[in-house]
Amino acid sequence: MVEQQWLDNVHTAEGTVLHERVHAGRSESRGARVILRGVHLRSLELGISGVADCIELTRSPKGVAIPSLEGTWAVHLVEYKHGKVRLETEYEVQLCAQAMCLEHLWSCAIPMGDIYYGSDRRRKQVSFSLELRGLVVQGCQALHELLRAHSLPMPGKRSKCRECSMREVCLPGHLKQSTVYMSELLQVAQGSEADEEDS
Ligand code: SF4
Repeated sequence: MVEQQWLDNVHTAEGTVLHERVHAGRSESRGARVILRGVHLRSLELGISGVADCIELTRSPKGVAIPSLEGTWAVHLVEYKHGKVRLETEYEVQLCAQAMCLEHLWSCAIPMGDIYYGSDRRRKQVSFSLELRGLVVQGCQALHELLRAHSLPMPGKRSKCRECSMREVCLPGHLKQSTVYMSELLQVAQGSEADEEDS
């Protein structure tokens, strides 16, 4: 986002295809159940916007009023991910951020949601705890600080870097080497200047 850089690899391409398929699905209404797909969300409080893959609404007396629907509804979010079921805190933070956007927009409380993993065709339930909500707030604050300062975060060197599409521009683990390289280059330049002065 800071440098407007993006690269795709097979993983991001598969994810894009999955999301396009989900968003292309039509919203449905089946009696006491309504399914909305590809819903645009934003939160002025958090300063973020995005698209929810799927919002499931179930008619409930304890639910909330939803714009353009009659009655009251319980709200449940589902985020689609390709691959097998696994623990990815980033995915849980992303889903919780969607819930917090929707809570601000619809003045409702959303206690939990699901991540659906395409390879396993299984859902993993995510509880929107205070701790997870805290991570969303911290993440948004950190993001805005980076954007304000036009400053790149330090590239970490983690196991997931191996499969990351941004590896070629992020160069994780090379920071020390490039710093050494720059310092050597500076020494060479200073040495050349000194030689010119001597001659
Ligand atoms: S630090 Fe690793 S995972 Fe993060 S963007 Fe760079 S290469 Fe990708």
